[in-house]
Amino acid sequence: MSTETIKKDILRGGQFLVKETNCEDIFTLEDLSEEQKMMRDSTKEFVDRELWAHWERFEKKDYAYTEECMRKAGELGLLSVAVPESYGGMGMGFVSTMLVCDYISGATGSFSTAFGAHTGIGTMPITLYGTEEQKQKYVPKLATGEWFGAYCLTEPGAGSDANSGKTKAVLSEDGTYYNITGQKMWISNAGFCNLFIVFARIENDKNITGFIVENDPSNGISMGEEEKKLGIHSSSTRQVFFNDTKVPVENMLSERGNGFKIAMNALNVGRIKLAAACLEAQRRVINEATKYANERVQFKTPIVNFGAIKAKLANMATNCYADESACYRAAKNIEDRIAIREAEGKSHQEAELKGVEEYAIECSILKVAVSEDVQNTSDEGIQIFGGMGFSADTPMESAWRDARISRIYEGTNEINRMLAVGMLVKKAMKGHVDLLGPATKVGEELMGIPSFDTPDFSELFAEEKDVLARLKKVFLMVAGAAVQKYGPELENHQQLMLSASDILIEIYMAESTLLRTEKNAKRFGEEKQATQIAMSKLYLYTAVDTIIQKGKEAIVSFAEGDEQRMMLMGLKRFTKYTNQPNVVALRTQIADQVAAVNGYTFD
Ligand SMILES: Cc1cc2nc3c(=O)[nH]c(=O)nc-3n(C[C@H](O)[C@H](O)[C@H](O)COP(=O)(O)OP(=O)(O)OC[C@H]3O[C@@H](n4cnc5c(N)ncnc54)[C@H](O)[C@@H]3O)c2cc1C
Repeated sequence: MSTETIKKDILRGGQFLVKETNCEDIFTLEDLSEEQKMMRDSTKEFVDRELWAHWERFEKKDYAYTEECMRKAGELGLLSVAVPESYGGMGMGFVSTMLVCDYISGATGSFSTAFGAHTGIGTMPITLYGTEEQKQKYVPKLATGEWFGAYCLTEPGAGSDANSGKTKAVLSEDGTYYNITGQKMWISNAGFCNLFIVFARIENDKNITGFIVENDPSNGISMGEEEKKLGIHSSSTRQVFFNDTKVPVENMLSERGNGFKIAMNALNVGRIKLAAACLEAQRRVINEATKYANERVQFKTPIVNFGAIKAKLANMATNCYADESACYRAAKNIEDRIAIREAEGKSHQEAELKGVEEYAIECSILKVAVSEDVQNTSDEGIQIFGGMGFSADTPMESAWRDARISRIYEGTNEINRMLAVGMLVKKAMKGHVDLLGPATKVGEELMGIPSFDTPDFSELFAEEKDVLARLKKVFLMVAGAAVQKYGPELENHQQLMLSASDILIEIYMAESTLLRTEKNAKRFGEEKQATQIAMSKLYLYTAVDTIIQKGKEAIVSFAEGDEQRMMLMGLKRFTKYTNQPNVVALRTQIADQVAAVNGYTFD
């Protein structure tokens, strides 16, 4: 990308909360280049041919078929999208990487987990932290699918507390290799991988260290049986035991004690990609549920005509649309930030690391929001199918079970919720995001007399944008007062952190949705975007509801007397609509469109 085309004034991570974004400045799925559309279409074709057509094999724990499909994906180049060309990859940008993660997720969570574990946490630690020799040796094999990778962080006693692992790495007397001993569990792709990224502790180091370990059973590596899991039945998940496994010193990743940082950065990238991998899964559930609702007749009426079913389809489509909007907005921000760093002379490796780290808050937000939406959507999918939804003969049942894991791995949603707020507060303390100035202003506004002017809301989204700006004030009011009250102790008030996080999440998702539709309405016309406009309004309405509830919970947890009364009044003022949207009419409009075209067609 030439330096002229790089936008340098893009918002930094977390700044969405305190700065306005113009709709022209966000990237949407409607902005895909021809090359990206081709990538998307070939991924969809692969999914239809190899995965969707054989989804029952994935339910029957056909691990070998998952491996076979991974090899085929390698032959098609789908494993190498994010890998730089110098290491045998396609070197495509972050948006293209997200597209493949997104559209590969349509048929089965078994495959998207195998794909994500290999291309993300199995390969990225080497491309991001490896030495030139390590990258030349391993990355081309991983990019083509000749080799597969796995990531060994979790241990029986170290899950969310990932830096507490007991696996040891002891330097040999001659200083040429480490002996690694320890037990790792829940390792995706363990059953067929050729290489592990292993985290182990050297002596009594505070932080763990990363290693590249080739899978060689004659080198003290053994496996447990395949785990019996609720879902993702054909994703190989095993315990891995290292017993005096010899690892040459040159296979240490980055520096001694840098493993926790590697693990966390790999997870940042993993989180946004996991969010993408919950998108096509949602679209296909919506498509199947819509087709079924159009065909299934009860009381002499296709069930799609019932308001109860319409409400479900409308909510499912709206959440999916919001998720797409936010995922691709953040993906392009990351891509641009990488380009800026590269233009400043940084290596691709360094630029990518910093680019993703910059948007770690957004990555956590997306991981939580989208993983919960795919769960809710598949749950409603089952409900629309009625008894048939409960049957393993329809794809709803497996979609629901497969969706469940996304709330657990890549950092549980509780951990990610707290991380999002925690990272934002830290950024504010470092001066990277000015929360204090805007929070003080909100405090002053609370003391002042509210304006009684009648605003002009005639333009598209004028009222919605006004509401959104006030929702940001809710976060600033709640988080500002909480930080003032508890200081660094805030992280010990988890329920408050969770409420603040839900407010933050809803703001990002609602804003991304409104901006996408505004941009498209400007270029394609409001008439063509009528359903998207309805979805944006509906999403904001539900976001406001959530924020009222979470805001109230947070305020009463730490404020009392006059302060509490003032903040509750502020909450009311900041969440008020002048013209209440008719959400029943909005849902009906959205559902009628989804039913008319027999599925989700907004991507
Ligand atoms: C199918 C599957 C595949 C996986 N693949 C991999 C893989 O390839 N590589 C790998 O390294 N790991 C993998 N994992 C492990 C996964 O990342 C962990 O399960 C996850 O990080 C949670 O850790 P845990 O299971 O030990 O739960 P715990 O950490 O014990 O958490 C249990 C509960 O307590 C909550 N909790 C924990 N700490 C806190 C806290 N400080 N504050 C509030 N709540 C807290 C959690 O949110 C959760 O609800 C996989 C797991 C599964 C199930």
